[in-house]
Amino acid sequence: MKFEGRAVLITGASRGIGKATARMFARQGAAVAINYHSNKAGAEEVADQICKLGRDCLLLPADVSQMNQVEHMVDQVIKKLGRLDILVNNAGITEPKDFRDTSEQEWDRMLAINLKSVFNCCKKALPHMEKEGWGRIINLSSIVGRTGAIGAGVHYCAAKAGIIGFSKALANQVAKDGITVNVVAPGMIDTRMISWRSSELMHEHVSKIPCGRVGSIEEIAAAICYLASEEAGFVTGHTLDINGGMYMN
Ligand code: NAP
Repeated sequence: MKFEGRAVLITGASRGIGKATARMFARQGAAVAINYHSNKAGAEEVADQICKLGRDCLLLPADVSQMNQVEHMVDQVIKKLGRLDILVNNAGITEPKDFRDTSEQEWDRMLAINLKSVFNCCKKALPHMEKEGWGRIINLSSIVGRTGAIGAGVHYCAAKAGIIGFSKALANQVAKDGITVNVVAPGMIDTRMISWRSSELMHEHVSKIPCGRVGSIEEIAAAICYLASEEAGFVTGHTLDINGGMYMN
């Protein structure tokens, strides 16, 4: 199994992409730390499934926008799992809103949860990877961080574009320590995050996807697992677009 002996921390793993990623890592042998914010029941369900696979599993409530909570979370991973090899910065929120209706508070909150969280988690996780001389960081951006999009808030697009720049800069700085930093930029994936669309709007948006469908959480999880693998050791600073052909770089 690919990830036997490895410990992975996945933020926002109580549902959606994070949940599928946690399960996929566990199926491939990893010990998994599941972060969540408010959905304890969802996180417990994921933990249960992982325990049934016979893997070590840790549940970690934390608001990843808060450095002190992230520090405690990473400390718990080290204390209970003994190591931290792979960090998946997946937690995020969205808020489809026109710029004119977006307040300063909404801007700050969006940037804190979607972008500052990535800084926070990397800051606390990196020293443990440096110590081992091996590490994998995978950050979740979005197609809208590349393209902007009708309906997506400017704050969400800015945060997701920021993740790409952040990841390239960090990739440069840690490459010699055996640590890679990559980005996955999904298009429309079947999770609660896209459920704000009416069925009419959903139909309209799906009609613009060359593959003619939305993506699945497993399709994103598989890409994350690839970027975390030994085999991807020469891939760094990359943004992997997974969007059914909606955006081709
Ligand atoms: P989702 O189903 O809405 O799940 C979001 C996760 O983030 C939940 O587990 C939630 O935890 C967690 N979270 C939110 N705020 C948090 C905070 N302050 N601290 C810690 N955890 C927090 O979302 P998803 O669709 O799986 O998206 C996962 C990632 O992919 C996000 O970064 C998103 O921007 C990106 N993405 C998604 C799509 C898509 O179409 N779905 C497209 C492009 C990019 P609780 O439930 O416990 O609150």
